[in-house]
Amino acid sequence: MSIYKAEKVTKNITRIIMPYVCFYYVEGTERGLLIDNGWGYDDLRPVIDEIATKEYDVLLTHGHPDHAGATNQFSDKRVYLNHKDQKMFDRSCSEPTRRFLLKNHFEKHAMDFDRDLMSPIYQGGFTDLSDGQVFDLGSYTLELIEVPGHTPGIMTVLFKENRLLLAGDACFNPISLNNQSSLSVESLYESIPKLFPYLRDVDLVLTNHNGYDAPIDVVYASHYLAGEILKGNDDKVRIKEDSNWLIARHKDQSKLSDIAETANIYYYPHRIYKSEE
Ligand SMILES: [Zn+2]
Repeated sequence: MSIYKAEKVTKNITRIIMPYVCFYYVEGTERGLLIDNGWGYDDLRPVIDEIATKEYDVLLTHGHPDHAGATNQFSDKRVYLNHKDQKMFDRSCSEPTRRFLLKNHFEKHAMDFDRDLMSPIYQGGFTDLSDGQVFDLGSYTLELIEVPGHTPGIMTVLFKENRLLLAGDACFNPISLNNQSSLSVESLYESIPKLFPYLRDVDLVLTNHNGYDAPIDVVYASHYLAGEILKGNDDKVRIKEDSNWLIARHKDQSKLSDIAETANIYYYPHRIYKSEE
């Protein structure tokens, strides 16, 4: 049985769900686009080929192992990635790294893990992406907005005709800035407002984790919360005594205003300002 489950979001958008993460296949009248592709566990290619009715390309919103792990199964396709995330892809998407992370996740949920089902890392080239880039799939347009923070080159995707914004890991609850390659809270605070003008044309935010969608408030609330961290007003929750990162909002006893309720940010206390990146 396949580990993947596909469901329609709209006529044009299909969501593919696997443990811990989901990703999207979109199609217009001319062409399709696979946006992220999960961990690279088990055969994804036949699943997408069954959904696709047009030729398609592959776009990676960022270079993390749970989003870009199956890229090797699409090595005959054009693969898009912002060059700012290329180094991170090379470092974090190796087969042993993905195997280690996913095995832990499976064990936590008492699922059987088969190490032979991991795809090797993609060795091919990438076509670069740029802020504001538009993809015309035929009567269906996507616009990319770069929102650096979670990674240096992470892209969000506006599905104009469907009034949806795939904010992905760039802006959902929680935003994790506690990765090796994450930028500072200050950088995130400066980049989130790039999304504000687009929100007039958006009814719902799509994400890749934790329920797969969120109200557009998550964008405003995340910006507010980043501002509170910069002012030193957040809850500064430490999960374990020796953990070197903090959680900005305490879920149960937050001293923050209700505005923060739909957001949270994980961050390093030594990487709050841009000068500390
Ligand atoms: Zn990520």
